[in-house]
Amino acid sequence: MTAPRLDVDLDLVAHNTRVLVDRLAPRGIRVTGVSKASLGSTAVAAAMVRGGATAIGDSRVENLERLRAGDRVTPLTLIRSPMLSQVDRVVRGSDMSLNTETVVLAALSAAALREQVSHDVVLMVELGDLREGVAVGEVVDLAATVAGLPGLRLAGLGTNLACRSGIVPDQDKMDQLSALVELVEARVGHPMTIVTGGNSANLDWAFGTADVGRVDELRLGESILLGTEPLHRQIVEGLRTDAFTLVAEVIEVQTKPAQSWGGTAQNAFGDTPARGGPGLVRQAIAALGRQDVDPDGATPPAGMKVLAASSDHLVVDVGDHGSVVGDEIAFQLDYSALVRAMTSPFVVVRPTGSASPDVTAPVPTRGAA
Ligand SMILES: *Cc1c(COP(=O)(O)O)cnc(C)c1O
Repeated sequence: MTAPRLDVDLDLVAHNTRVLVDRLAPRGIRVTGVSKASLGSTAVAAAMVRGGATAIGDSRVENLERLRAGDRVTPLTLIRSPMLSQVDRVVRGSDMSLNTETVVLAALSAAALREQVSHDVVLMVELGDLREGVAVGEVVDLAATVAGLPGLRLAGLGTNLACRSGIVPDQDKMDQLSALVELVEARVGHPMTIVTGGNSANLDWAFGTADVGRVDELRLGESILLGTEPLHRQIVEGLRTDAFTLVAEVIEVQTKPAQSWGGTAQNAFGDTPARGGPGLVRQAIAALGRQDVDPDGATPPAGMKVLAASSDHLVVDVGDHGSVVGDEIAFQLDYSALVRAMTSPFVVVRPTGSASPDVTAPVPTRGAA
């Protein structure tokens, strides 16, 4: 079978979504499924919706446009601040966007009027992670500005933590967000319909807190796709970690000394590797490399170990496995490895499970998959 390939079990994606949706619903929290790590796959998004996600979020307009072409019903959110150069595509291709800049909001308003649509706006609040967000003291004024822009509807507030600086979304941060919601409502005179508290890093807080405050939505990607939470990379209870499997084919199996020989300098990637110890290694080369995956995030089966990776060769100590040329090796992926595999034109994406076969319609820069 074709290799390298990324097997995607859509039933497990739906399962993970369902478990999260059912655990968060009693707390009054809805789930937006974040599809960006799947390259905005229509089939992955459909599996999230099947599992109970009420909306799909993606950071790329291109992905949202493809999702919209395949599904006109599910609300779509652009979860990155729109590019000024893309505002028309944003209001056509999504129902809502996360925003921080007055100039962008003015352009979105003009675009919504041109396209004769109403576009929902969430203002993102900076609570310490220092990525996107408006300073707490400026949120109420910006909200009033949005409320006065035709074509836009101020839908709510949101925040994003743990992405740039690893700042934990705790009770204090979420209480600050809730308090701001009340201030904004008092100023603009209508209730916020969405308070989006964060990403998969918020799950610890959401499951543990006695008071979610005004937070009524989370944007979940990693937990749905990989079953892990990003704060400590622990498995979230009840979730499956094997929805995605990267399969590579073995092109050489030889027994070689563990220790390289000759004078040493840098390798292909500018590192000077340690030489390796004594003894012999049964090593396989998989036809897989840094062009296909982040090798640090690819875990081979038990009893095998990744020794090294260059652009096109992944060297694996196969231990007692009786590997031969032509065998396939299946790797579990972390977030970084998944994103690389999904964006590699060499990796064929193959959906499994009961849902739709069309896991990724081609995007312009990518071969058909
Ligand atoms: C990527 C992203 C998410 C989803 O994050 P996960 O950790 O994958 O759940 C949510 N919100 C924003 C703004 C993002 O960029």
